[in-house]
Amino acid sequence: MKLTIFSRLIIIYIIIFSAVAAINLFAIYQFGRLNRITNSILKIDNRIIDIQKMLTDSLFSQMRYGEKGILTKDPALFDQFHVARDTFDKNFKEAVKLGDDQTKGLLKKAERYYKQYQFLFLEEIEYIKTNQTYNQKRYKERKEDNLGKLIDVLRQLKEYTQESTYSKIRILNKAVDDSRSASLVMIGAIFILGVIIPVIVTISIIKPLSLMKKKTHEIAGGNFEGGIHITSPPEIKELADALNLMCLKLKEVDKMKTDFLSVMSHELRTPLTSIKEGATLLLDGVGGKVTIKQKKLLSIILQEDKRMIDQVNSLLDLSKMEAGMMPYNYIRSLISPLIKNIIIEMESMAQTKDISIEEKIAGELPPINIDAEKISHALRNLVVNAIKFTHRGGCVIISARAGEKYVEISVSDTGPGISREDMEKVFDKYHQVHPADSNQVRGTGLGLAIVKNIIDAHGGTVWVESKIGEGSTFTFALPL
Ligand code: ADP
Repeated sequence: MKLTIFSRLIIIYIIIFSAVAAINLFAIYQFGRLNRITNSILKIDNRIIDIQKMLTDSLFSQMRYGEKGILTKDPALFDQFHVARDTFDKNFKEAVKLGDDQTKGLLKKAERYYKQYQFLFLEEIEYIKTNQTYNQKRYKERKEDNLGKLIDVLRQLKEYTQESTYSKIRILNKAVDDSRSASLVMIGAIFILGVIIPVIVTISIIKPLSLMKKKTHEIAGGNFEGGIHITSPPEIKELADALNLMCLKLKEVDKMKTDFLSVMSHELRTPLTSIKEGATLLLDGVGGKVTIKQKKLLSIILQEDKRMIDQVNSLLDLSKMEAGMMPYNYIRSLISPLIKNIIIEMESMAQTKDISIEEKIAGELPPINIDAEKISHALRNLVVNAIKFTHRGGCVIISARAGEKYVEISVSDTGPGISREDMEKVFDKYHQVHPADSNQVRGTGLGLAIVKNIIDAHGGTVWVESKIGEGSTFTFALPL
């Protein structure tokens, strides 16, 4: 499916909208149908049954008043007869208006008998009015015959209307059953259209994104090998192609950096080492007698050369760390021997400034998974700084303690302290704070950045607490 994400989302919306619209249209249609049937039962069938009853009643009234009128010749009874006849006519007309074809057919039949009955009755009246003799019995029989047939047709009409009502009720029941089944089918269809299809489309978008995420993590971890192959959606395909291209470029840059670092470490270290050796040989008198002034100058050259070598080493170490090219050799080791070694190593430097170095190790420390050489490097940088920034006669304390999840190692000094704003920046590379007597303190601004890199690589954290004029404490915590 090579559709864009936009098209896929639009398709999902159209599908959901269509499914909901279909259900609503079906419901509207079913409600309309049920409404029509119910109306026809209430307003037509019920009314025709009522009318049928009224027609029968008014027919009996006509018969009663007519027969009595013929016997008594009372004009009031004939008036009553006419009232009943008007009622009959009015109801009859309404029934013809409401009824369907079948009803109309029955009414036509009834009308025939009714007219016949009326005709016979009027003829009889005429005989009576003109005092003619006629066969009364014969008329009575014929009228009764017509009335009997008429009442039978009205009964048929009632039965037909009742049957029509029942069949409409049956249609109603069936319509309700159909609606129930159709609703179930539609719920199933909506589930397929409205849930399964969107899920499939969403997966088709998320899957390539997950691939991209995985590849991005690999790139972040320094693995630029192997591209990702995504064919759709087009937007993500374009992104994947761009990522593959980026990977290629990063690979090139990575190689250039590796080459640069190895060339630089050789090109910078070699002449500096040669200078150091040459100056040492000159100081030792290999090149002839050395005057006091020359000795002084050679010492300065050696001192500056050492500083340069340290700087180059720090720079190369940090570059390697940042490039993820610094190899780490993790072994479960005890931290106390490392602390002791550093103290021994740093003692002569501390003595030159009359600074005491103390160790405070709280109980037995458990072994932790570390690269001992790198942790010593970090600890050395902190102790060198502590000695470097502490005034003559001060004190440096290296303490260690084990927590629940971490082993914490701190280097405290009685130096000048660090201001709050500088505390946030001291771990940035090249960030140096110059105290008032900064002439005595020269550095590279890389020591703490290296410490942070080493501790981060161990999954630990490093921080500083300090008070101006009282001293500083640098602490790093390594996971157990
Ligand atoms: P460098 O020491 O070579 O300048 P670092 O990265 O080791 O570089 O330290 C950065 C800055 O942090 C230093 O310039 C200094 O101002 C400050 N700093 C580091 N350690 C201490 C300390 N123990 N006491 C006071 N300031 C310190």
